[in-house]
Amino acid sequence: MSTKKHQIVIVGGGTAGLSAAANFCYNHNDRNLDIAIIEPSEKHYYQPLWTIVGAGVFPKEDSERNQADYTPYNATWIKEKVDTFQPEKNQVTLGNGDIVEYDYLVVAPGIQINWGAIKGLKETLGKNGVCSNYSYDTVEYTWENIRNLKSGRAIFTQPAMPIKCAGAPQKIAYLADDYFRKQNVRNNVEVMFAAQGPRIFGVEKYRIALEKLVKKKEITTRFEHNLIEVKGEEKKAVFQKVGTDETVEIEYDMLHVVPPMGAPDFIKESPIANSESGYVDVDMYTCQHVKYSNIFSAGDASSLPTSKTGAAVRKQIPVLVQNILAHMDGKELKGKYNGYASCPLVTGYGSVILAEFDYDGNPDESFPFDQSEERFSMYLLKAYGLPRLYWHGMLKGKA
Ligand code: FAD
Repeated sequence: MSTKKHQIVIVGGGTAGLSAAANFCYNHNDRNLDIAIIEPSEKHYYQPLWTIVGAGVFPKEDSERNQADYTPYNATWIKEKVDTFQPEKNQVTLGNGDIVEYDYLVVAPGIQINWGAIKGLKETLGKNGVCSNYSYDTVEYTWENIRNLKSGRAIFTQPAMPIKCAGAPQKIAYLADDYFRKQNVRNNVEVMFAAQGPRIFGVEKYRIALEKLVKKKEITTRFEHNLIEVKGEEKKAVFQKVGTDETVEIEYDMLHVVPPMGAPDFIKESPIANSESGYVDVDMYTCQHVKYSNIFSAGDASSLPTSKTGAAVRKQIPVLVQNILAHMDGKELKGKYNGYASCPLVTGYGSVILAEFDYDGNPDESFPFDQSEERFSMYLLKAYGLPRLYWHGMLKGKA
């Protein structure tokens, strides 16, 4: 067991962790900051690509890079996981028992996917027509199912919020619908969207547009239906009607499952967690921990009450970095995050509704046209522009 000390320690080298590291290392090089990133994975993923990988647009390998290639050269990568936090002592304990001390801690280990929360899912995922875009290992099977389905029923599920990318469960339903139409099999395939929530999308402007789209595409909807069990061999999905004990069994030929998600267990059980949600308890504007002033958090693991997306992370990180540097200098924390999040709602091969909004659910749009309309230009942005912005901008501290 060893003890090491770094000035700024970042837990998690995903979207938030790596972009924070890049921002510190490349944009504030003159400060000679001593940064360490604790990240167990050898690989880094651009997860937003998985939506279109599941629809056969790109191979999954396009979403994967070596962690080492995106870790700033002047940061230390500790290839381990964090097990526990000792905020009173300014230290974390790693999976191998080592201790890492810090002056400042950035906590960004993402959200936890609870595959086991749906009975029978783990046993049948990857076979019997049960697929999911929510992991690198299962995303290709989505495309196999869409490609091979010629008749029957395709169900796309959405669990209770929060999940990462609230729009992703419906995007793959629209893409599948489009593919079935292009193959002239749509008349023989029922496309069903079954969600735990009461409506298609939270932000009104885009909700109205999406409700029209669902109608136009003749997608069957089952709202307030929560997937609780998958009977793989029988090809039946069991839903509980929200607020009741009543369950409904629906037969399927293809089932795209978005599993329930929540705060990572090691965060939930730690002293830095919010007692209600289990996420890292930070101020919604400054990203600073409500109790420990040298701890900050951004991304999916934080309690920031916004949509959990990489787009939100892009706006959170500059605020977090600015505020840590101000705190170091004994100055007021002037950086304020307004809750900005974005969701490129892919509505087919070649069309996207680009939703962008703030904490109050008000549209916070980037382009001078009505973004609630389906557009080819926004599809190009999603498929080609944003991945480049990610690898060459965000992860280099430039966007
Ligand atoms: P992540 O990027 O998930 O990174 C967390 C990191 O922490 C990982 O590298 C993990 O290995 C590490 N970690 C975990 N536990 C520990 C530990 N104990 N110790 C140390 N490290 C640990 N966002 C958009 O903006 N637009 C989209 O269109 C979009 N589509 C999506 C589609 C899908 C299918 C999915 C899955 C996600 C999508 N997202 C989208 C969401 C986006 O990918 C996430 O919101 C974003 O990656 C969150 O960043 P993060 O750093 O908080 O978490």
